[in-house]
Parts: sequence; C-alpha cells; structure tokens
Amino acid sequence: MDTKKVIRQHKEMNEFFSGGFTVKGTPRTVAAQTINVAEQQDSRESQLAAIAEEVRKCCCCGLGTTRKNAVPGEGYPHAQIVFVGEAPGGDEDMQGRPFVGRAGQLLDKIIAAMGLKRQDVFICNVLKCRPPDNRDPKPDEIVSCIHFLEKQLEIIKPEIIVALGAHAARTLLKSNDAIGQLRGKFLEYYTASGYGPIKLMATYHPAYLLRNYSDDNRRRVWEDMQKVMRELGMPVSKGGKQSS
Ligand code: URA
Repeated sequence: MDTKKVIRQHKEMNEFFSGGFTVKGTPRTVAAQTINVAEQQDSRESQLAAIAEEVRKCCCCGLGTTRKNAVPGEGYPHAQIVFVGEAPGGDEDMQGRPFVGRAGQLLDKIIAAMGLKRQDVFICNVLKCRPPDNRDPKPDEIVSCIHFLEKQLEIIKPEIIVALGAHAARTLLKSNDAIGQLRGKFLEYYTASGYGPIKLMATYHPAYLLRNYSDDNRRRVWEDMQKVMRELGMPVSKGGKQSS
C-alpha cells in the first residue's frame, strides 16, 4: 500500500468535501471565504433543521398516525451527493434516522468504498414515514410528502442524486421504466418548482442487493458509484472496496 498516496487522497477528499472548493469568482481573502462558507453552512443547516421539524409534525397523510418516528434525513448540508431511498423501514422508524438497518449497513459500506463517510453525504427518503409492514408507498403518500425532499434538495444543491432502487428512481424521474433500464447513466432531475437540473444516477437498492447478492449485481452498483465518483473528480481505485 502506498501510504503517502492514501494520506494525500484522504486530505484531498477532506478538502473536496469541506465546501471551500465551491467558492468561485473574484479572489477574496481566506478569512472572507471562511466566513462565507461558515455562514452558508449555518444557513443550510438551520433551513434543513426547520424542514426536519416540519416533517416531525406532519400529519398530511395516514402514515402520520402509524409512524413511531418520522425520518427526515441526515447528513452534510453541503453534500455533493444525496442518496435517496424509498421510505423508512422498521429500524429507521424506531430510531428516526435513515438507513440504519441491514440495508443501511450495506449503504455505509458502499459509501466507505467510495472513500467517503456518512457525514460527507446526505441520506434521506422519498417518504419520511414508514409505511406499515414496509408496504410500497401509495401515490397519495408520495404526493403529500415529496415537497419535503424537494426543499431539502433545493437547500443542499447537490451535484448528484443517487436514487436507490426502483421506487425512488421512478418517483424522481416520473418514469415507469424498470430499474435495470434507469440505472447506470446520468439522467436529469428537476424539482416541481423548476430547480435543476441535478444529475441523477439510479442504482439498485441496498435491500435488493442483500436479497440478490450476486457478483454481477454488486459489480453493477459499484460501476454506478464509480461513474458518480468520476463525475465529481474523485479518485477511483480500480477494484474499490466493494467486496464485503
Ligand atoms: N430502505 C429505505 O428505502 N430507506 C431507509 O431509510 C431504509 C431502508
């Protein structure tokens, strides 16, 4: 292992996701830039916190009465990548946090294979409350809830959305195509208010991967994530750390 290279990549990654790299335009003093980034960070953080509060109070659909905890989402307010799943499951409902069950542990491994941590990205769902017995989201539930996700995306302004699984991909892309058709290429996403385009990469849901844990499916997900990494100028190691 080339330790110096690993340390350099780690440092570059930290700088890359620190938010400072996005400051463009007329050069300003470092102090001014730092203040600017800190202010933006603070404002995005508080805007996301306000949405999370709205989500926790929301009773717009029936799931407001069956949930234990709403699951607004969590992560870095300046994230370059937002992972969007379908809806919280039982573990998420218990803890009020997204992707903390078995599928979440696999998502953590995928994120780690990309050279990132959960804190570097934002993780959330189309639906913010668990459908009973983990049934599929109903259209009226999506209609009631989608504005929360749209606001989160408008605040975070990610470079790339990774849509995890058919439900998230089809909802965001307003498509009925199979996930096998949608995955593996950059598509464009716009919020209802016209914000965008945000590049969207659909891939298989970690829960699907757990159920269908073949080399081919793992390779497909890893290839999709490598495309995301290349698009962001992140170092891509050939084999990745996808095996786990
Ligand atoms: N599956 C999802 O789609 N979202 C979660 O948060 C957990 C499991």
